[in-house]
Amino acid sequence: MLFFTEEKIAKQLSEIQPTIYREIYPIPYFKFHEGPCSGAERPDFDDRHWADFRVGDAWGGYDVVAWFRANVPIATHLRDQKVALRFLVGPRDSGGLTAETLLYVNGTPLQAIDIWHDEAWLPPEYLQQDEISIALKAWSGMLNVPERCRFKLAQLVQIDEATERFYYLADVLHKTITTLEEHDWRRVRLLETINEAFRRIDFTRLRSEVYYRSISNAARFLEEQIAELRSAEPVKPTVVGVGHSHIDMIWLWRLCHTREKAARSFSTVLHLMRQYPEYRYIHSSPQLYKFLSQDYPDIFARVKERIASGEWEITGGMWVEADTNLPNGESLIRQILFGKRYMRAEFGVETHTVWLPDVFGYSWALPQIICKSGLRYFVTSKISWNQFNRFPYDTFYWRGIDGSEVLSHFITTPENNTRRYTYNGTLSPAEVKGIWDNYQQKIINDELLLTYGWGDGGGGPTRQMLEWARIMDNVPGLPRVKLDKVEPYLARLERRLAGKDVPLWDGELYLEYHRGTYTTQRRNKRANRKSEFLLHDAEFLAALASTLDSAYTYPTDTFRKAWELVCLNQFHDIIPGSSITAVYVESQQQYEEIRTMTTTARDTALAAIAGKLGGDLLVVNPTSFTRGDLAFWPGTLDSGQALQRADGEPVRIQNGEGVTWIDLGDIAPYSVTAL
Ligand SMILES: [Zn+2]
Repeated sequence: MLFFTEEKIAKQLSEIQPTIYREIYPIPYFKFHEGPCSGAERPDFDDRHWADFRVGDAWGGYDVVAWFRANVPIATHLRDQKVALRFLVGPRDSGGLTAETLLYVNGTPLQAIDIWHDEAWLPPEYLQQDEISIALKAWSGMLNVPERCRFKLAQLVQIDEATERFYYLADVLHKTITTLEEHDWRRVRLLETINEAFRRIDFTRLRSEVYYRSISNAARFLEEQIAELRSAEPVKPTVVGVGHSHIDMIWLWRLCHTREKAARSFSTVLHLMRQYPEYRYIHSSPQLYKFLSQDYPDIFARVKERIASGEWEITGGMWVEADTNLPNGESLIRQILFGKRYMRAEFGVETHTVWLPDVFGYSWALPQIICKSGLRYFVTSKISWNQFNRFPYDTFYWRGIDGSEVLSHFITTPENNTRRYTYNGTLSPAEVKGIWDNYQQKIINDELLLTYGWGDGGGGPTRQMLEWARIMDNVPGLPRVKLDKVEPYLARLERRLAGKDVPLWDGELYLEYHRGTYTTQRRNKRANRKSEFLLHDAEFLAALASTLDSAYTYPTDTFRKAWELVCLNQFHDIIPGSSITAVYVESQQQYEEIRTMTTTARDTALAAIAGKLGGDLLVVNPTSFTRGDLAFWPGTLDSGQALQRADGEPVRIQNGEGVTWIDLGDIAPYSVTAL
């Protein structure tokens, strides 16, 4: 074997990549509009008053939405070819982020165009037309945004399928080689095979007929060789890939932006599912599905179809992926109650997993709440971010305060060669090998869960990841890759662990990181606690009022709305304090809404109770324990007046300045006493 073979392969791969696009048709002109515009995706939308825009021109600024529209002719000889649209909407030239964009074709959202998805496959039905209408709804972003960004590229391309297949095959094998030890026989064999494949390609006339024929032969050769090598490793671990896109409900952007991120990420998922029938995807948050149903009912309907057919998994247990250190017990239960109820009502799905990959530590109360809520599994990856100590287990039973135990599993995918695990995997050969290398319970389990897809601000899996997955079904030197969903994986894990010596963790899952968040945004944390108290008291009084007064209507809708807002604001970047200022401005407005709704409900219930119990004053103990302290009344009795219970028993009082202290002795839990 010659020296520099690996380097040569890397170089030749980079030469091959652009030739995947065998024919390129530029889309030079667009009609352009900055600012929101209703109906601009429709083919019949009248854009004659819009500005002309040429590819290469600049657009954007801070937090700007822009629309680009064009009609794209389709040549007749492309009708049975693999064809895609490509865009670099900008600002890729300044480094950093590419504008997140939703691409519509003939009025229907096709997929997102972003830094990870610059290419969108055009399904055959569009190729039978002489012309298609495209619309791009781009968002310039809020983080390190340049003053203007340049729209660099718009093309219709014909993809040479053999070249693409060769590229992905060679790319995976090359990346696998770099993960293996120098003297590993599999590395030696793979390097020899891939080198031989490259020798079959005629690089003398790139893009010629001869070149494309030679590359097609090389692809066939490589596939045959891999098939032969497959039998060499009959026993090895399995990595189960689940498509995922972590979408923070807010973080470095606001809620309104997240609602658009959901539409973009989800339409990409739907489009990729059509191209890769084996693709499975999980998204956890009922709140986001609810937003999608309001904003993009057409995308929501298609998501629902995929959920019904079993390709799209909804599990996660909670209304949002909530912090678990700050919300009280009732809130954590409501997160699960609202989450499970929505998934059951909207999709007919019963969920079994608490899915919190990115939450900043986990309360010791959780195992009890998880078990009593009818859930079985807990998944995260975050504890690996600890500053000092490595958590000793990746698969274990987590015991709660009351002794409840829940099967818990960490996603051990290595993040950029650090000791942290990531939920934003790429499904690269290095990760597929690394997830197994990291894993600490190899003796009791040889099947691991890898979530792949760009995330935090959404994005999700790419075509490259799905191509890699197909090839890594069995590549020497790597665990076997299968695509599946989370809950079938966890059910298999549970069965595999039966009768084995599974580690037990009895305590909280404390995260030695992000601690500073818990002492920031004090006003927000206070508003959460005040809302929890108010809702507790109001619900008690409303329940009591409905038992006393048949004319009283329990305000179910008000409490549901208030709780949904409380739960939303317990998201793991809102309540801990890790978001931008604009998020907390909006959050305070929502807490004000909660306060108004809840105090109105409380006062209406009190009025109904007073109507039935009579008397002049009501003393309420809304807590679950007996209270012996004095009741405070911000008023005074006229001289000669006295307070007495309904049965005539006098009540001791003491007057202060304009106020009265009332001594009722022991006040029973959850009681209202009329005086
Ligand atoms: Zn997050």
